[in-house]
Amino acid sequence: MGARPETIAAIATAPGRGGIGVVRVSGPLASPIAVAVAGRLPSPRHATRCRFAGPEGILLDEGIALFFPAPHSYTGEDVLELQGHGGPVVLREILRRCVALGARLAEPGEFTRRAFLNDRIDLAQAESVADLIDAASAEAARGAARSLAGEFSARIDAIVAALTRLRLHVEACIDFPEEEIDAADRRSQQAALAGIREDLDRLFAEAAQGAVLREGLSVALVGRPNVGKSSLLNRLAGEEVAIVTPVAGTTRDYVRATILVEGVPVHLIDTAGLRESGDEVERLGIARTWEAIANAGAVMLITDAANSEREEERRILERLPKDLPFAHVTNKIDLAKLAAGRASRGPGEVEIRLSAKTGEGIGELRSWLLEVAGWRPSTEGLFLARDRHLGALREAAAQLASAADNTQAFELFAEDLKVAQHALGSITGEMTPDELLGQIFSRFCIGK
Ligand code: GDP
Repeated sequence: MGARPETIAAIATAPGRGGIGVVRVSGPLASPIAVAVAGRLPSPRHATRCRFAGPEGILLDEGIALFFPAPHSYTGEDVLELQGHGGPVVLREILRRCVALGARLAEPGEFTRRAFLNDRIDLAQAESVADLIDAASAEAARGAARSLAGEFSARIDAIVAALTRLRLHVEACIDFPEEEIDAADRRSQQAALAGIREDLDRLFAEAAQGAVLREGLSVALVGRPNVGKSSLLNRLAGEEVAIVTPVAGTTRDYVRATILVEGVPVHLIDTAGLRESGDEVERLGIARTWEAIANAGAVMLITDAANSEREEERRILERLPKDLPFAHVTNKIDLAKLAAGRASRGPGEVEIRLSAKTGEGIGELRSWLLEVAGWRPSTEGLFLARDRHLGALREAAAQLASAADNTQAFELFAEDLKVAQHALGSITGEMTPDELLGQIFSRFCIGK
């Protein structure tokens, strides 16, 4: 038996003022804390109206207490939720009271980590909790919700189960001399392997689409003042609100704006500041911007249809990585009386003529951006997979490709299958080192 777990507590609702705020407590002290703060242990899973008492019985707030006895709770432990009025001071006082009664402050993601350690959810589901909270678009949220519901894990598990069956079959053959293994056995193993590889490819495609939604596309934006960059961004963002605050920890000062194009985040890197040589601080900023451009996925040069590009833009363009997909956007065609449209100007290079003012030609630009991002709008199901998942899926696929070359050598074949299975198992956390768990959960918000 392990040591008795510590009881943890945190404010689970977002900081600031709101209608209600929730303090969450998980662990063996949840019930004595309920008795001390709410005056009694609420019956399981029933909203119970109580007065929340501070030290010496002073009244802190009046609210609802909810008690979820183990193991039927989020964390799998006894969980107490104290729902008070959503003010920062009130909630802090309730939390302080829980700590005085023996709980300690929860670390980021600790509730979810416990849910994982107590087998309430697997690792991919735990990650999707954070992804759902951080989702930047309705599409991303749907992808995360599907993963949280266990659909992604179920697909992984089904592939792992098929691999296990195949491994049993192959390993049984290892004990027999070559000549006794019949051709039908070999054929059925090859067919099983082909089926597994197909399932894995399909899953990878869906996960890769999810990764597009997560990461989006970074686009370096080049253009003189007044060519209509701001107007164009507003047009592109359309009905969807530009994201002003990126996900915590990813604030990038060189990003001018992140807009959503059909739910795909497009991060626009402003190159406007690149012209001045500036002072020390500016130079650092410029160096960071160039670094960001080197990692961008595309470049957009915006010019005014009535004026051709000038020397200053050419200097920036010359320094851009040569193989980036490039769009020369000619804006204000309404003034120049040009027709909207898209024309290819060479490999990876297009010209798009449009008007940010009238909206003509904007559809062409949107589809170019989505194309470059690798987004296929018709995709039905997708999972908001992380790089970690894609890496593991890729590794499993490579092992299975190697297995396909080794179907005649049972030992090698069996070994490839085993490594592939381990790679897949790391996604759901069947075999995941503690250090990685630490990294994953430390990026959660507190109280989750
Ligand atoms: P920025 O400095 O590049 O961000 O340019 P703005 O978006 O602020 O636009 C500069 C001016 O050009 C504004 O007065 C816009 O209304 C105007 N403008 C932008 N796009 C168009 C367009 O497509 N057609 C016309 N006629 N005017 C435009």
